[in-house]
Amino acid sequence: MARRTPRAHYDAIIVGAGFGGLHMLHRLRGLGLTVRLFDAADQVGGTWFWNRYPGARCDFESHDYSYEFDDQLQQDWTWSERYPAQPEILRYLNHVADRFDLRTDIQLRTKVTSAQYADDTESWTVGTEGDDHTETASAQFLIMATGALSLPRLPDFPGIDRFAGRWYHTANWPHESVDFTGKKVAVIGTGSSGVQVIPRIAQQSEYLYVLQRTAGFIVPAHNRPLSLDEDDAIKSDYQAYRDRARESYLGVHFPTEDVSALEATPDERTAAYEARWQAGGSAILATYPDLPTDVRANDTLADFVRSKIAELVVDDDTAKLLTPQGFPIGSKRLVVDTEYYPTFNRDTVELIDVRADPIEEITETGIRTSNTEYNVDAIVFATGFDALTGPLLNIDIRGTNGRTLTDKWSAGPTTYLGLAIAGFPNLFSIAGPGSPSVLSNVVRSTEQHVEWIAELLQHMREHGYRAIAATPDAEQRWVDDVNDVAAATVLTSANSWYLGANVPGKPRVFMPYAGGVPEYRRICDDIAADNYRGFVLS
Ligand code: NAP
Repeated sequence: MARRTPRAHYDAIIVGAGFGGLHMLHRLRGLGLTVRLFDAADQVGGTWFWNRYPGARCDFESHDYSYEFDDQLQQDWTWSERYPAQPEILRYLNHVADRFDLRTDIQLRTKVTSAQYADDTESWTVGTEGDDHTETASAQFLIMATGALSLPRLPDFPGIDRFAGRWYHTANWPHESVDFTGKKVAVIGTGSSGVQVIPRIAQQSEYLYVLQRTAGFIVPAHNRPLSLDEDDAIKSDYQAYRDRARESYLGVHFPTEDVSALEATPDERTAAYEARWQAGGSAILATYPDLPTDVRANDTLADFVRSKIAELVVDDDTAKLLTPQGFPIGSKRLVVDTEYYPTFNRDTVELIDVRADPIEEITETGIRTSNTEYNVDAIVFATGFDALTGPLLNIDIRGTNGRTLTDKWSAGPTTYLGLAIAGFPNLFSIAGPGSPSVLSNVVRSTEQHVEWIAELLQHMREHGYRAIAATPDAEQRWVDDVNDVAAATVLTSANSWYLGANVPGKPRVFMPYAGGVPEYRRICDDIAADNYRGFVLS
């Protein structure tokens, strides 16, 4: 029987101890607020606590994927590789928690299950479950730093319970190391997680089946150790580095040619794409300004990447199956790899087309598709997340008059700036649906949200306001803007998780804001400067 502990009251409750939550806690404590942060994990780190599968690594470069809010922190911390691996990011976030003495206000192993707004007291009551106790706590403000990609998705194949081997999800990987030596393994899913884990499992396993439903566009990372000289060069003028990132569409600076892809000659285009392919990373998507908006321009890059697959994969049939078709490059998240395509040149790796031959069930000994049975010792699900809305809807959130968020979002998420939800006063979402979030360098975007929310709460204190609510009109206008901006890009033309297409029954709505980091920041700042236009303060 779960033990109940007494209720406590805070100025603010934060849910989630990842990049957004830790920074928010630090910032609000600096304002003198009492704050409690809850997280279900037994360590801080958010997504980097859970996604500890072999090969897990960020696809933004280390210096970009780090906080800018404290200059001494960014000067003191030295990243060891161009792209940070999961253990290094987890060390960094633990360092931040220690350095700013955050742990005293963090309650780990505590899952937030409900949040209810009380109209009379203008405050939130949050219900939590710990290992052996349930708890309630209340606060004037509730800040959801729950992450966009934190609710893993396991497809509902029948039979998983009777599988006699071990199975894993990349987003809930065991803490002890998993040894695939001498084992036959199946990996289901070839998005960013699958593409990272597959080469690593291939190196260990006796035989690996890769079950692919959709081939994606994948470009090389060319990860490498970072030299101290490179680190010094950035640290000697970090401010300029940060300013450039802030002024860039993705919140990270990628050089872009000043002509359209279609104005360049075929030779110029190939040279530009080749240079970026050799340099590595997703900067290739920014080669020309019209790649995200003009399908014909986009095709030139898509064809270039397709030609690389044909070069890298020896077997023609496998290469053909790995070649993405039917959607523009960048309309699904571009995947950045290390040794993915050459992995298919191993005799012990076999690519299975589960679009043509779908998975029917998990059996005691493996996976049965319509036509074949694959006997394996272990199955790895790299099947992604219920993105953006999932982490919020997974909590029973009730706003004014007891209206549930599930009801409000039954046709898709509606927010004001991706920060606030009409009918849910004093609640904020960091990098939620309706903000640049997953379409940007999410560390830059969470920092911008944290600063904006902190300045708002300071403003409310100074003026004696107790509640803030987004108006339905402002919210509707923002939803329309989010849709219009996305419709002007190639982003809506793929069955992506940006649109919820990976979750059966999820409303098909393009969720993040595609207008870019600088424009979004400008809009948020204008609204704040205009006395928080679109909000009612009381
Ligand atoms: P994902 O991109 O959604 O990929 C899931 C994969 O599972 C897809 O290949 C999908 O196929 C497949 N799948 C799902 N259900 C299936 C089913 N019933 N049968 C067969 N295949 C199925 O998930 P993810 O790879 O975890 O990545 C999610 C996001 O997390 C990324 O886009 C990225 O934003 C972030 N991430 C980043 C990094 C990094 O920084 N390097 C690493 C990991 C994740 P379909 O395509 O056909 O749906």
